[in-house]
Amino acid sequence: MKNIAILGSTGSVGRSSLEVIRSNRESYKVELLVANSNFELLIEQYEEFQPRYIYLESQEARDSFNEYIHATKGDKNPLLKDDIELEQIIASSSIEIVVAAIVGIAGLKSVFIAAESGKHILLANKESYVVAGEILNEISKEAGSTIFPIDSEHSALHQCLSGVTDKESVSRLILTGSGGPFLNKDIKDLKSVTPDEAVAHPVWNMGPKISVDSSTMMNKCLEIIEARWLFDIEDIDVVIHPEGIVHSLVEFTDYSLLAQLSVPDMKIPIAYGLGYPSKIESASKQIDFDSLKSLTFKSPDIQKFPALGLAEYCIEQGGNSSIILNAANEECVDAFLEGKIGYLDIFSIISEILDKSDFHAVKEIDEIFEQDKITREQTIKTVNSY
Ligand code: NDP
Repeated sequence: MKNIAILGSTGSVGRSSLEVIRSNRESYKVELLVANSNFELLIEQYEEFQPRYIYLESQEARDSFNEYIHATKGDKNPLLKDDIELEQIIASSSIEIVVAAIVGIAGLKSVFIAAESGKHILLANKESYVVAGEILNEISKEAGSTIFPIDSEHSALHQCLSGVTDKESVSRLILTGSGGPFLNKDIKDLKSVTPDEAVAHPVWNMGPKISVDSSTMMNKCLEIIEARWLFDIEDIDVVIHPEGIVHSLVEFTDYSLLAQLSVPDMKIPIAYGLGYPSKIESASKQIDFDSLKSLTFKSPDIQKFPALGLAEYCIEQGGNSSIILNAANEECVDAFLEGKIGYLDIFSIISEILDKSDFHAVKEIDEIFEQDKITREQTIKTVNSY
């Protein structure tokens, strides 16, 4: 029996993770559930999985959870009192596996703690790896932790690369992307895109932030940077594959390709990461070949989705550039979802912030948080001037 912490349990990835665990109860025990404000769902999850510990970030949600516990369980309260206690539990021997599924930089500290304390980390929170990939890799090596991707594309690459002993034989990694909701929209109509349209992803059912990122292709940009740190390979291309069946490919120097296919369902990469190297029940479903009309592929339109080009730029610049990219993007997506800026302003503001920035090396976690804070302040100022 392995003890698991699910950080971001009330979100899309967190809920899928619990579905996989539901099908494998004899092998996994949920010890810790973490969310921000959705205490109603957290209470349901608590009642079902009976974790020893609970953490909620929002004070209002903590008060509501406490009220519920006092009314129903008396003194037996699983709610951790603060983030220090949370970090202690993540680092403690009562947790073996950490599913990192908090959205955005808010998930970075817990990923650091898990990496430092030698955990098996199932990483969904790509933002933490985008801003701190190099440092996290060093920490993991020293502490003996593993960072295992559960982003579907990176899980696919991991599967295609397993058994490849000679990295020189890989000519490039090819990330697939569905193209998002605006794949076939005319570039001149993007200006008027609304938040509701941007979060309506045609293939995946995800949280609002990653859905907007998918629509701008910033998600693919972050995934290129994530793949660079996960696999230590810099030749990475993107191909548009609207059906979302081929999750990514590895091309070798003889131009043969390996691909991984499945229905688009996060439970499959989560089950792969949980069970690796064994296969476990994923609670997903088989591909129905009769209903698959075709699998199509085409190059991304970089003019329409310029965010994609920022990956190469940030990998080249290195240092703090990815932190700036990520912080500016998180603030712009929030501002767009709140109706403060237009859809095309997201890319304009991110470019403006990057253009004004000085790039330098970053060695410590504190420097990451400092850069993140500075960039957010700059971005908010720019958002307010639009
Ligand atoms: P959601 O918005 O659906 O869920 C986010 C989760 O994080 C919720 O449980 C939320 O709690 C919690 N959370 C947010 N802020 C905090 C905080 N400060 N402290 C503690 N918990 C917090 O996001 P997704 O599940 O879609 O995405 C999660 C991560 O996984 C992202 O980094 C995304 O890029 C990545 N990812 C997602 C995929 C998907 O299919 N959804 C695919 C691949 C990667 P609450 O509900 O209370 O707000």
